Amino acid sequence: TVALARAESLIALTPDYPEPGVLFRDISPLLVDAAALEAVTTGLIQPFRGAFDVVAGIEARGFLLAGAIAIAAGVGTLPIRKAGKLPNPAASIEYHLEYGSAVIEAPGVLEPGARVLLVDDVLATGGTLAASRQIIAELGGDVAGAAVVLELEELGGRRHAGAVHSLFRTGG
Ligand code: IMP
Repeated sequence: TVALARAESLIALTPDYPEPGVLFRDISPLLVDAAALEAVTTGLIQPFRGAFDVVAGIEARGFLLAGAIAIAAGVGTLPIRKAGKLPNPAASIEYHLEYGSAVIEAPGVLEPGARVLLVDDVLATGGTLAASRQIIAELGGDVAGAAVVLELEELGGRRHAGAVHSLFRTGG
């Protein structure tokens, strides 16, 4: 649609951030635009209508998308957090990054068998999404699907992350 094409054009590109050679994609100009945010919210949930009970946002831009989706779809939202932010995490998963590793955590608030849609801004190597799938399983939920605004196809992230609905894709 026209609204989605405009939303895609609002993703900002910053070369050499956070390190030399990396082209960083920032959805902030998209989020601040009401029509673009609405189009992206609708597009992210479109294949999953009626198929999820909770939307889980991955820290931190995923939280913003998940909040908008929760209201649009009439579901609740679950934060998947970086390590050390929760007083009492019920699940914790360590995963490997290109250099080093990371840990994500989640609170123990899911109903058993809750159908969870995972949401994030960017799919890169897929490690974060793969770990997020594990964390939902550890919490006793079922992953209903995963949706991202932008998939960096050249990194092959869906090999690790499994099926992903991406609104926009780039070969870099
Ligand atoms: P992955 O685990 O390599 O797929 O990295 C995905 C995570 O890193 C997501 O939580 C993204 O928010 C973040 N990320 C990676 N590359 C970018 C980028 O270019 N812009 C914004 N976030 C990014």
